[in-house]
Parts: sequence; structure tokens; C-alpha cells
Amino acid sequence: MKVRYSQRRSNILEARRKSVAHLSELLESVFSDRVRSLKRELRDGGNLRKRISRMDVPDELPPELLTLKKAALVVGGNPPSNPPPENLPHDLDSWQKFRIALLIALNSGLAYALGLLADVENDWWTSRGYEQVDLEARATILAYQARVGRNLTLIADDTMLDVHKMVSDWYVSGRDFSSLLADLNKYFGSQRAQLIATQEVNNLNSQISLAFMTAHRTNQWAWDAMGEKPCESELEINGKYYMGCMELNGKIFRVGDPMPPFASHIGCQCLATPIKEAT
Ligand SMILES: [Zn+2]
Repeated sequence: MKVRYSQRRSNILEARRKSVAHLSELLESVFSDRVRSLKRELRDGGNLRKRISRMDVPDELPPELLTLKKAALVVGGNPPSNPPPENLPHDLDSWQKFRIALLIALNSGLAYALGLLADVENDWWTSRGYEQVDLEARATILAYQARVGRNLTLIADDTMLDVHKMVSDWYVSGRDFSSLLADLNKYFGSQRAQLIATQEVNNLNSQISLAFMTAHRTNQWAWDAMGEKPCESELEINGKYYMGCMELNGKIFRVGDPMPPFASHIGCQCLATPIKEAT
């Protein structure tokens, strides 16, 4: 019996949900290791500003003393206009470890996702008389990075740049050390892990759909906004403008055309649905 389009859709949503949950968990554990060691590196930095900010000063200081404390923080040895590169967490070793751990987490989480998503595709296609397709995880994960033109290692590089910027901004701001720690905790928190996991799982999902369409010589697909409130901000695909995924919903594209979520927006949940039936 043919697996229905609606069944494929809900199976894909379920496979994505499991994949995103699993990948986010892996990313969160890498993130929490990183933020823990970052805080240690920053605390042990030996910078006067940091030492002052660690002094036992109650939060509810009278305003004039708070001003004094802020002034002390700003004056403290290093002029704040002077960027302090040696005090930043430039420790290559720890960033290098983070980069490797993050890549391992991404690749293993995506390999798990590939298993679930390819099963859904195989169920759908084989129920229509097509051959089973076996996708190799490493090749498929590399193929989508090449297609979207964004290597997974960039996630680690962006993280490092963002953290350097956060530390530099904090350094010249006169804010308490605790506010920097709070920013770092938030940045390495579950929300960002979820967003990264969603984007990468959905990118992988469109690569898998593409691989199945190519293997089965299907040349067209329909944009499916998956029923959830699609975005309505203007998007350009192949030189044509659309009012977001709302207007893209149901539009027909050819294999090789830009696909969601890469062609649309971060966090896009849309799916490419093959539209050629078995002959
Ligand atoms: Zn979308």
C-alpha cells in the first residue's frame, strides 16, 4: 500500500523532532563544557579588572560607592581603550578542543538523523515501487555543506569570534564580571543549541530528499510549508520574489533549484515534496 503524502509529512516531522532533540543534547553538552572552561580561563586571566570584579562587594552599594567601583574597574591598570588580546580566551588549545568536540557532536547527531529521515523516504518511495536507496552518512553530510556553501566548522569559528567580541565589549563597558558570565551562559545555552540543531537537521533533510529524487529520476518537487504558520517576509529564489514561505507553499520547483531551509530563512521548517508518481 502506498504511504500517503500526509503520512510522509508527519513521519518526517517526527523524525526531525527526534533528530533535533538528540543533536541539541549533544551540542548542549559540548557548549556547557566550553562555557565552564571559558569562565575558568577568564577568572584566572590575572587581569586587574577581573580581580576587582571578583572582590566581595555587596550588590546593594550606595550609588556613590558604585560609581567609585565602576571607576576603579575602568582605571584598573589597563586602559580600556587598549584591546587586551593576551587576556582574551585565545587559548588555541581549548578552542581547538571545542572545535573538534563540536564537529564530532554535529556529525554523530546528523548521522543519527540521516538514519531516521532516510527510513521515512525509503518507506514512502518503496511503497510506490521504487528501489531502496542506501545513503552513506559522511558523503551526504558533506554534500549538503557543499550545496549550501557553509562548512560545519564555521559554527565553531563563529562561536569563537562571537565570544571574543563579547569579552572585548565587556572589557571596555565597565559592566560587572557577573554580567559577562551571564551573557556567556545564555550564549552557550539550550536555545542556541536548538536553533543550530534545527537548521542543520533541516538542511540535511533537504539533501536526503534531493538524493532520493535524483536516484529515482524525479525532476520536480513542491514547496511544502508543513502547515505551521509560514513566514511572510519577502524572499528571492531564482530571481523571483515571494512573500515568504506562505507564498512559496505549493509552488513547483525543479531538482537543482534552491531548497528550504537554505533558500528561505534560519529555522525554516518547510519540506520539498517530490511530485512525480511511480509510472
Ligand atoms: Zn519555510
